[in-house]
Amino acid sequence: MKNTAFILFLFIFFMGCDSKPKIIQVSKDAFQNGQYNTATMGLLSRAKISASDKAKNVIFLIGDGMGLTQVSAAAIKNDNELFLMKFPIIGIHNCQPSEGLITDSAAGATAFATGKKTFNGAIGLGADSSSHQTILERCEELGMATGMVATSTIVHATPASFISHRPSRKQYEDIAADFMNTEIDYFVGGGKKYFDRRSQDERNLVKEMQDKGYVVNDYFQEDFQNLSIDTKSNFAYFTADDDPIPQSKGRNYLMPASKTGIEFLDAHDDPNDDKGFFMMIEGSQIDWGGHANNAEYVISELLEFDKVIGEALRFAKEDGETLVLVTADHETGGMAINSGSTKDSLNITFSSGYHTATMIPVYAYGPGAELFSGVYENTAIYDKLLLAMGITASK
Ligand code: MG
Ligand code: ZN
Repeated sequence: MKNTAFILFLFIFFMGCDSKPKIIQVSKDAFQNGQYNTATMGLLSRAKISASDKAKNVIFLIGDGMGLTQVSAAAIKNDNELFLMKFPIIGIHNCQPSEGLITDSAAGATAFATGKKTFNGAIGLGADSSSHQTILERCEELGMATGMVATSTIVHATPASFISHRPSRKQYEDIAADFMNTEIDYFVGGGKKYFDRRSQDERNLVKEMQDKGYVVNDYFQEDFQNLSIDTKSNFAYFTADDDPIPQSKGRNYLMPASKTGIEFLDAHDDPNDDKGFFMMIEGSQIDWGGHANNAEYVISELLEFDKVIGEALRFAKEDGETLVLVTADHETGGMAINSGSTKDSLNITFSSGYHTATMIPVYAYGPGAELFSGVYENTAIYDKLLLAMGITASK
């Protein structure tokens, strides 16, 4: 009798999560930046770890060039309110590449994506130029849903390091072609020209993606906010032909693309075989503000990125099976908040137009977050992510 009831329950359950496509409507609300209200988040407690307590989903947020001074300046400018300040677990990573002390974004992201130290410029390769499967590729292989959102081109060093294997980050057209080798389910970023107006060959990768069943949209056709997205198809959206513009000049897709992406990836995997998702979200232009030695640029990019962190935390808190990890690849600009600064007038100077060797904070929440406490190499982030998800590298 008990068994019959259980079978009936299963039957109703599976009827309920029938294979009807779920349509996600990108709402206008998702665009509104609104006021910060980190207080509504409440206390984010440490998740209890047990063998069965794995992170089903991972939202990995990378603030390119986001050192502690960048975070501090944004916090001061925002009444000491940041979602970044809500995390229960903090760690520190050492970002040195395989040669020298100063990393670039390619070697920095390759360390996160493959667990290998490499030389500056290298994408998804080890120091000996051998190719290594990335965590995104591994998750895809395991049947998880995968996605990336960036405020640079999608072939720029940080996102590229999760999906491509090339000796130079400048091989944009080769990196675009590498997107065809992985069934990434959702991606949003700039750089459309590397896909459909290529100089090195006649391939039209947008067409190739469409032939593979992707729905591909871009800024030429419609605004991101008017989209209805069918979660049964893979989805790509190009926000610019080349680099997207800064937030201060009107770029506004990071929040809706991230929020929609989380919802999409959560719904995307087979409802009868829910394997979770891996998503990388990059606040790419915090770094560009640092290179330009422009504190306003750094702060506006960081505050936008922080709101997306808040959205990820909100999802994770409700979901209970999602690990949210935030870090940077390196600091940019040798940024300092100097004496004479007031809340309204920060006296900020930069000691460099490039990256520095300072260690980088790591913020973690959700199942497996405790693994990220302590001081470790940037490559350990890869190992800890696999451990948190309870998966191993491909043999
Ligand atoms: Mg980057
Ligand atoms: Zn940089």
